[in-house]
Amino acid sequence: MNRFQWINALEVAEVAAQTNSTVADAMVVATRSTDSNQGAIEGGRQPDNTSIIKAGGIDLLDLLKEGLVTPSRIINIRSLPNMDRIVNDPKTGLRIGPLVTLAQIAADKSLQRTHTALVDAASHVATPQIRNVATIGGNLLQRPKCLYFRHEAFQCLKKGGDRCFALEGDNEFLAIFDNQTCPIVHASTMATPLVAMNAQLILTNRRGTRTVSLEEFFVSPEKDVRRENSLQPGEIVTEIRLPVMSANSRSAHIKQGEKESFDWAITDVAVVLERAQERVRRASIVLGAVAPVPWRSRAAEAAIMNQPINEQTARAAARAAVQGATPLQENGYKVPILEAVVYRTILQAAGQSLS
Ligand SMILES: Cc1cc2nc3c(=O)[nH]c(=O)nc-3n(C[C@H](O)[C@H](O)[C@H](O)COP(=O)(O)OP(=O)(O)OC[C@H]3O[C@@H](n4cnc5c(N)ncnc54)[C@H](O)[C@@H]3O)c2cc1C
Ligand code: SF4
Repeated sequence: MNRFQWINALEVAEVAAQTNSTVADAMVVATRSTDSNQGAIEGGRQPDNTSIIKAGGIDLLDLLKEGLVTPSRIINIRSLPNMDRIVNDPKTGLRIGPLVTLAQIAADKSLQRTHTALVDAASHVATPQIRNVATIGGNLLQRPKCLYFRHEAFQCLKKGGDRCFALEGDNEFLAIFDNQTCPIVHASTMATPLVAMNAQLILTNRRGTRTVSLEEFFVSPEKDVRRENSLQPGEIVTEIRLPVMSANSRSAHIKQGEKESFDWAITDVAVVLERAQERVRRASIVLGAVAPVPWRSRAAEAAIMNQPINEQTARAAARAAVQGATPLQENGYKVPILEAVVYRTILQAAGQSLS
């Protein structure tokens, strides 16, 4: 790990003024001098002139330890005031500060009633110790877990190199949709229910704020392989907003890991259903850990629209969800798992027990 200056920011304006890079940009800059044939860097990396944001620091510390990012300044935003609050107003909707921890969300009783899928997701990320520290803002912005990306010796496309090592290499846990160029899966479990609930991000920089839907904030590798989202240097996530959930809405989230322990998902699914006279009037079905972005399945949504929810309709929607999957050499096993998890999550959102 390189030496860096530590700045404890106390105001958003100070963060915006001090930060000159996103972590995605810093990683490309940091590896520019690397010889892509040799891979490893002789004598280690020198700090570059970047200043980057740290929230809980779980993901950032990993990148620093591996020498994948070498900032000269770290802007700690943990002490920013009023950024660690959850306000769940039945008239105006839900507002979540970016420094709210996953443990706070998991323990929030009012969210359990109105935003069940969000609480389900927060309860299943990593370990209790990590959830106590990890923030919702940092969770959405964590970088992918692809083994090659996380290894200093591999200068892949995402880090500014000229090839993807995973396409012909280890791709067991990678994408089964949108996987022609860089088959990462989006790392954030929280993003799956947030996209299903039509969340918006408030982003602040020196000039003001912009609001962007979370679904549009995430960027496919086909658009820009070096980043997972459209965060700009000097921009800070200052709030996450969700619309009011109607009284007829119910949601569920199921995360399927390789083992019953802390781990990233093989797949996770969030379902939001709004029903009237037992029939679905609005459905939102989002698939996590199967594509470079949270993958909204319009086909699965269409399959249950205006239908009652039962085992038959849930199965039809699950089949529709996996249509168009293009598994790689090692990850075909994900397709039937995804289908089963979509089926179970739809039934759970409808309050039906599984057979
Ligand atoms: C063993 C293990 C298992 C895990 N399992 C899961 C899992 O199942 N699902 C899952 O989703 N995650 C999992 N994680 C990842 C973990 O949840 C994330 O690393 C964590 O949520 C990141 O949050 P943080 O606050 O620590 O972010 P940080 O590491 O502080 O920041 C992450 C990134 O976000 C940027 N950033 C942070 N806040 C802001 C802000 N407000 N505005 C602008 N930029 C910002 C930082 O610059 C950095 O690039 C796991 C981690 C471990 C170690
Ligand atoms: S999948 Fe993406 S991150 Fe992984 S090696 Fe290929 S280009 Fe790099």
